[in-house]
Amino acid sequence: MTGQAVNNGILHLDLDAFYASVEQRDQPQLRGRPVVVGGSVNRGVVCACSYEARHYGIRSAMPMARALQLCPHAVLRTPRMKLYRQVSREVFRVFGRYTDRIEPLSLDEAFLDVRGSLRLFGEAVDIAAKIRKEVRDELQLTVSAGVARNKFLAKLASAHGKPDGLYVVPEPPDAFLLSLPLSRLWGVGPVTCRHLQEHGLTSVADLRRLGEAELVQIVGAAGKSLYHLIRGEDSRPVEVRAGCQSIGHEETFDRDLRNPQALHRVLLGLAEKVAARLRAGGMAAASVQLKVRYGDFSTVTRIRRVPEPLDSALEILQVAESLLQRTEAAGRPVRLLGISLSHLQDALKGQGDLFGQERKARQSALDGALDSLRQRFGERGVQRATLMADPKGRSGTKAGGDDGDGP
Ligand SMILES: [Mg+2]
Repeated sequence: MTGQAVNNGILHLDLDAFYASVEQRDQPQLRGRPVVVGGSVNRGVVCACSYEARHYGIRSAMPMARALQLCPHAVLRTPRMKLYRQVSREVFRVFGRYTDRIEPLSLDEAFLDVRGSLRLFGEAVDIAAKIRKEVRDELQLTVSAGVARNKFLAKLASAHGKPDGLYVVPEPPDAFLLSLPLSRLWGVGPVTCRHLQEHGLTSVADLRRLGEAELVQIVGAAGKSLYHLIRGEDSRPVEVRAGCQSIGHEETFDRDLRNPQALHRVLLGLAEKVAARLRAGGMAAASVQLKVRYGDFSTVTRIRRVPEPLDSALEILQVAESLLQRTEAAGRPVRLLGISLSHLQDALKGQGDLFGQERKARQSALDGALDSLRQRFGERGVQRATLMADPKGRSGTKAGGDDGDGP
């Protein structure tokens, strides 16, 4: 492994003109035309615009009326957020094939920390190229990628490569940084930019001639981090948001459960539900979390990371039951139980076709074991919890965090 591979482990991925690109993808007659997605012409602003529209000077956040002045023949579309969220989930699922270290910034933008994936998938630049190709092939969308040793540089790099670009920040990054206008620096907004200009500072080189204290004097507390950023130093980690890559299910009971048999039956139902959703997405999970809320509303969670990602209800059930042992569920009335799975990855990741048969055989053995377990729990255990008309009163189910969405 080269030094470069070790250093360059952070990707910033950003779909190009996301909303407008989805509209152009789904309506071929819009391709090659200036498409503006936004609110009403009278009061709305531009949410997104195709690159054809950008040629006319149209930009995000511009009033729609102004956009129409610049390009009277622009095609206007109202945003279809539900669709964009759905497509975003599909895109993030592609990202998730290469790492679970994902920090979504929005529906169309994320940081990935792939330093733990290099041995499996090659260098960071190869991973970025694979993701770009898979998103293009499978979803007909282009994503620009920046590859660097930290978030600040990676974000600058993806913008540098846009549209449909892949840019690797060279090491050392000084020449790249010095080539950028101040307005391109992430975190330097228009107000700071103007303020710096008033002090005669118009380039990164100008800023780098200042000491840290001088920079703080000019831009305030932010000068401290700016001093380091313009030298390519950024120690902020990629922050994986809980819930953004998880599948969960929980049940609240109208009357607290005390009977261990009843708790096990609920766990079986939950395990089957999350396993079904997991397998529907072609995923496997490396973490299983159990949530227990007692009758007095106090809540505990227990989590286990497993060495081999799981995708069967039986395996998930086994982990959940062992986690249940680590709670006071046996001695205290239980009001709610929940199972959620995280550290999701492609079920077949790292497994060649050779293992396909073995996997199928293992799966049918597991299904058989589950059948006998259902018999042990009695007829009611066979039914899915949502279909169960439990006279003891189950108030219904609630889905936990969905997989792969941005904020
Ligand atoms: Mg974008």
